[in-house]
Amino acid sequence: MFTSPSPGNAPAVSGEDEVSARDLHAPGRYDPAPSGRARGLFDAVLFDRDGTLVHDVPYNGDPAAVRPVPGAREALDRVRQAGLRVGVVSNQSGLARGLFGPEDLARVNARVAALLGPIDTWQICPHDEQAGCDCRKPRPALVHAAAAALGTVAARCVVVGDIGADMAAAGAAGAAGVLVPTPVTRAEEIAAAPAVAADLTGAVALILERERLFGVRTPNDTARTPDDTARAAGPRRGGRVLVARPDSAGDVFVTGPAIRAVAAGARRVVMLCGPRGRCAAELLPGVDEIIEAPLPWIDPDPLPVDREGIDRLVDQLAAAEIDEAVLFTSFHQSALPLALALRMAGVPRISAISDDYPGSLLDVRHRPPGGIPEVERALSLAVAAGYPLPATDEPVLRLRGDLTPPPETAEIADGYVVVHPGSSVPARACPPAVCGRIVAALTEAGHRVVVTGGPQEKALCAEVAAAGALDLSGRTDLAGLAGVIARAGALVVGNTGPAHVAAALGVPVVSLFAPTVGYGQWGPYRVPVVRLGDATAPCRDTRVTTCPVPGHPCLASVDPQQVVEAVGLLAAGKAAEGSAAG
Ligand SMILES: [Zn+2]
Repeated sequence: MFTSPSPGNAPAVSGEDEVSARDLHAPGRYDPAPSGRARGLFDAVLFDRDGTLVHDVPYNGDPAAVRPVPGAREALDRVRQAGLRVGVVSNQSGLARGLFGPEDLARVNARVAALLGPIDTWQICPHDEQAGCDCRKPRPALVHAAAAALGTVAARCVVVGDIGADMAAAGAAGAAGVLVPTPVTRAEEIAAAPAVAADLTGAVALILERERLFGVRTPNDTARTPDDTARAAGPRRGGRVLVARPDSAGDVFVTGPAIRAVAAGARRVVMLCGPRGRCAAELLPGVDEIIEAPLPWIDPDPLPVDREGIDRLVDQLAAAEIDEAVLFTSFHQSALPLALALRMAGVPRISAISDDYPGSLLDVRHRPPGGIPEVERALSLAVAAGYPLPATDEPVLRLRGDLTPPPETAEIADGYVVVHPGSSVPARACPPAVCGRIVAALTEAGHRVVVTGGPQEKALCAEVAAAGALDLSGRTDLAGLAGVIARAGALVVGNTGPAHVAAALGVPVVSLFAPTVGYGQWGPYRVPVVRLGDATAPCRDTRVTTCPVPGHPCLASVDPQQVVEAVGLLAAGKAAEGSAAG
């Protein structure tokens, strides 16, 4: 790849920062603050050029043919005013095909900059598909190179583009993505995207809204909602703060950054979790004490509600001497029954997300928009409650504790591929036969494969591992599983807890993602990821726990060779990240 001449605006290249996405997970290792602005979610927005910033004219070498899409100048200016850098990441195979020369490209790019304002970095792939280069999108090297040129890392960038290759490059780099479809964007590309906006203006509005929810104040940002007013009062100093996330391990993990935000302002954090989430709660930094309670309005196999049980819960909460509570939920769960129990236990200040009218149950009622990542949704509640994530922390998942893998892994070298076939929710599990073929294909491609699973998944894992993998099912607790994943080159997994363990460890994920819930909300957060599976399958957005569609087509359709290619792409991305940062 090369960085084409960028007339009128020299790219700010920082050779000092040798940071990788993995460093984001180690406190204190990463603090570039590239523009001196308060630390937000993102440092830069990287735009595709043709079809995104300007109307697509195939293989255009003529500056006179450059026509910006409607609102492009204003959208980019909003990004600049918010203190974010602007980059372009563009495939220009017309160079390799000899359809135009480097001078033509420079003139076209100069015209783009003249019309749309300064571009802080141009990253161009000059190759065609046959070259097999590492930079042509959907490969992630352009994204890493742009991030490095701007003194940041891909995980702190958003890629805006008009086709699936843009979103795939973003994902493989660990960056966020927003797709702005054009009439030629395929339906499956739209379905698979982490976020979709109607136009460029909408994409920028979405990015800046996510920054605002994270607690970033932009110059012209005036208080519009009670949340904004609360934020203006500054961070709280809390006493004993109860944080609740009473469902499964994956839900607990994605709430981790928000819990660290609360912990930064609280004297002590008491976490209320359910029996399914306790093992994850024990791995979260910032949690000082744990209260385990199955809540019948949250648990998928709920016990009946009776007065004795509720009395016991209220007594338990009263005995914990809580000063205030921040109740985290998924959008389809209600925080209000727990708020009632907390009120009965005498808790004076309660914050939660609630579309339902809460009356006097809540002191801070927060209502973020739908569709944002669960991590950011939870963080936005922490912000609304008065607990922004400190600038010294980073909005990524993290784990603590001694993550010791079982002794069987001692004799195999790091960089193996972990295949985790199980799922707490059957509709999100890849069929065992497909997982077995994935293991066989990976082994054949020369990878050492490790299969993991819980004690109840031993039969499943034995079947999947039969093609030549090391079977560790039933051999680890969650911390041990994390220890196995920590040494892996990649994890192949459905939408279930271990995907978030990998995200917390900076280990790339091949996500076999059933579209029953939103990928943008529940996909692995801020870690390199390749999404596989049919995002358009009829189970889409149904939130079902058991697949109602004969043959489980969303994941049965995964071709094992796609997994092999995805693992290769993620490994190449890692190498590209290293060379971009170095
Ligand atoms: Zn290339």
